[in-house]
Amino acid sequence: MLSDAAHLTRRQAMAAMAGTVLLPGAAVAGERLVHERHFLFGSPVDLMVRHAVGLPVEAPVARAMAGLQQIHTRWNAWKPGEVSRINQAFRAGRSVRASPMLRALIRSAAVLERESFGFFNAGLGGAVNAWGFHDDVMRPGSPPHPGLLAAWRDAAPSLAQIEFRGDELHSTNPRLQLDFGAYAKGVAIDRALDQLHAAGIGDALVNLGGNLGAMGRGTQRAWQIGIRDPAGEGLVARVQTQGREAVVTSGSYERLRMLDGQRFTHILDPRTAAPADELVSVTVLHASAGLADAAATALLVAGAQRWRRVAERLGVTQVLVIDRHGRAQATAALAPRLRLDGLDRRQLISVA
Ligand code: ADP
Ligand code: MG
Repeated sequence: MLSDAAHLTRRQAMAAMAGTVLLPGAAVAGERLVHERHFLFGSPVDLMVRHAVGLPVEAPVARAMAGLQQIHTRWNAWKPGEVSRINQAFRAGRSVRASPMLRALIRSAAVLERESFGFFNAGLGGAVNAWGFHDDVMRPGSPPHPGLLAAWRDAAPSLAQIEFRGDELHSTNPRLQLDFGAYAKGVAIDRALDQLHAAGIGDALVNLGGNLGAMGRGTQRAWQIGIRDPAGEGLVARVQTQGREAVVTSGSYERLRMLDGQRFTHILDPRTAAPADELVSVTVLHASAGLADAAATALLVAGAQRWRRVAERLGVTQVLVIDRHGRAQATAALAPRLRLDGLDRRQLISVA
């Protein structure tokens, strides 16, 4: 499905994407915008390429889209595939073969776990499942029994408990269950942009369920990105990407379940195995979409007092945080880049 999307309206762009949205920019003479959209597990996957008229881009765009879908599916812990097979083996205490790509993903997720002081933890699949946050559709119900949550919390799963034996993996903790929900989308975006770049495309944007990664040359060609207001329909701010840059938002307002009449978000604090509730939205900008994805989740869990330390440790300098009272804080590196919409300068606190 290829379409000319130069006239994508703001409302269409907003409706399509969670957390972070793409805003239509001015058309440049002699350029064409190709937009391909698919849906995966209920979320939109968009690929946009700006290119000189006459340049054939359809084939590389189709290949990048196929790659995005393939890895996003393959790394989904909740669909039949490599990750669910490995989780089964971990539960049974068996060693299991893993592809080189997945072993690399586990190693990098383990580093991010350590560097985020454990706030990002791709081994929390058991608790995610207990809360029912693994379903594509979030149905109402009841919260898990406190005893069950205590068991997941006390099991303290960590990717450091995985032993690498040649091309096999072994977990010393049977309660370690892989879940790359907070990381795989970012990594998939990086791969798609790498692929497009290798095909000679320098100006592109990838959206995976509200996580955006862009590359472009110069300010005239920067992509305009909107950051959604967690409390309403509109935007809090807009930002233009610089060069190759991802804009990833982790929000506790998009994916949530009504459980006994209360709202629970799908992002868990590993220290409690319960949803993190201090911050409602964390946006991270970084050249690496994978790092931005993991970092946005880690900072959201770290909460109001600790997110700055975690950002510093992860090497993330461009952050916008909104807490549950609607207070916004941006790092000094990001604040001057933001064009405020729902926020005004007096409400935005800039922090070092
Ligand atoms: P989204 O996928 O909505 O953009 P995130 O990137 O924050 O949001 O990922 C949230 C998902 O990651 C959850 O649905 C769950 O599968 C998993 N997850 C929940 N808590 C954590 C955590 N503390 N660390 C790593 N992954 C988590
Ligand atoms: Mg994330």
